[in-house]
Amino acid sequence: MNEFKITAPPAWRQRAACRGVDPGIFYPVTDEDAEDAKAICAQCDVCELCLQWALDRREHEGVWGGTTERERRRIIRRRRRSA
Ligand code: SF4
Repeated sequence: MNEFKITAPPAWRQRAACRGVDPGIFYPVTDEDAEDAKAICAQCDVCELCLQWALDRREHEGVWGGTTERERRRIIRRRRRSA
């Protein structure tokens, strides 16, 4: 049996700079296409919370907290090495 756990969006999303922006921008085909999304993240008051949220959930797709999936994998590896 499949179980779905529905969770409310985190409260910090209310302060996200990407609210109302076309979500497609945050799902670029290549890392090189992620610059528009990263520019929005750079202006975002909740960038650090967003990045940590994505790292905690191992978000595999999209730009979160100003990082692409490849960059998040790098952060996770770096943190493991220094732990
Ligand atoms: S850091 Fe980027 S993806 Fe995260 S909430 Fe802010 S604008 Fe949206």
